[in-house]
Amino acid sequence: MTQKSLLITGGAGFIGSSLIRYLIAQSDYRVVNIDKLTYAGNLESLTEVENHPNYRFVQADICDADKMAAIFSEFKPAAIMHLAAESHVDRSIDGPAEFVQTNLVGTYTLLEAARAYWSQLQAEQKKAFRFHHISTDEVYGTLGENGLFTETTAYQPNSPYSATKAGSDHLVRAWHHTYGLPVILTNCSNNYGPYQFPEKLIPLMINNALAGKALPVYGNGQNIRDWLYVDDHVEALQLVLEKGKVGESYNIGGFNEHTNLDVVNTLCDILDELLPESSYKPHHNLIHFVTDRPGHDLRYAIDATKIQKELGWQPRETFASGLRKTVEWYLNNREWNQHIIDGSYQQQRLGLGGKHDKA
Ligand code: NAD
Repeated sequence: MTQKSLLITGGAGFIGSSLIRYLIAQSDYRVVNIDKLTYAGNLESLTEVENHPNYRFVQADICDADKMAAIFSEFKPAAIMHLAAESHVDRSIDGPAEFVQTNLVGTYTLLEAARAYWSQLQAEQKKAFRFHHISTDEVYGTLGENGLFTETTAYQPNSPYSATKAGSDHLVRAWHHTYGLPVILTNCSNNYGPYQFPEKLIPLMINNALAGKALPVYGNGQNIRDWLYVDDHVEALQLVLEKGKVGESYNIGGFNEHTNLDVVNTLCDILDELLPESSYKPHHNLIHFVTDRPGHDLRYAIDATKIQKELGWQPRETFASGLRKTVEWYLNNREWNQHIIDGSYQQQRLGLGGKHDKA
């Protein structure tokens, strides 16, 4: 049997690199990583697979239609997992254009390249082909104190980021209904874990705490997010790719709701314990409340019953075990971190609509 090729877009990002490391270790796929290497793409997250015979990297922009067509025709994939995106809400507030370009125009460009390739496949390969779109729970908008997002919750995105992800989900679904392209969608809650770019809450707090800098908590810190360890997400993605029903969407989440303030306090406790000699102990003294994000969604919480019941997925990590692993990883991988901090990202406050100040 010939080995199957899998295209992964955004494989140099946080979730994409975890997915590639996992698939190379656990599966026999020939993985082709397509990534533009924006500020968020980092090939240092892939050093453990870079020389593996089943791994290839192609630097390309998903908005480049000719390049996407050439990649499909060269690698003849059995499936594509589409993760490439502009992903940071605060950046989308300051500069939405890139989000519209990559998340909407890029997804459209990929759908068209996939459709042209798929339409000339033999019947059996055509049936087996998958376009798996990786999306977020933020497309559903915000919840009040009660309730959970299910796969049938109406879309009501509130930020430029979530609006472009919602639009890309609609495009993917439309390419299935209109052209028959075999698509699958997943909408996941907030991920955390190793190799996450330090503009996101958890690595930002860890890095600031290590440097004795203020830990900026937006508003009163009572916004609730539903947290999932990235490797649990990645296992779910492979399961959905291989066993999910064409045309359907699956919510992925760990039933793990915490306020932002709880998350930061827990991180401070772990750091106090792991760094007993730190002169910044107790780390929670570094917590500093700052102006809230405009339009900050109050609460996200995923109902993951469908993927659990239909596909048998269960997360392996609890929030306590995953958070501890994450802190330990950042403590043991300061070089990876340092290269990012030395680069273009200087941990400045984003998301105030153009005003950039130091967090
Ligand atoms: P990330 O920002 O860490 O990585 C995005 C990757 O996409 C980077 O490597 C970047 O270089 C690449 N990229 C951006 N624009 C590109 C373009 N035009 N062409 C090719 N490559 C491009 O993002 P992430 O956190 O790994 O998220 C991956 C996907 O998962 C996104 O689609 C995001 O919406 C979704 N998602 C993320 C989370 C989360 O908590 N991080 C939760 C649910 C869903």
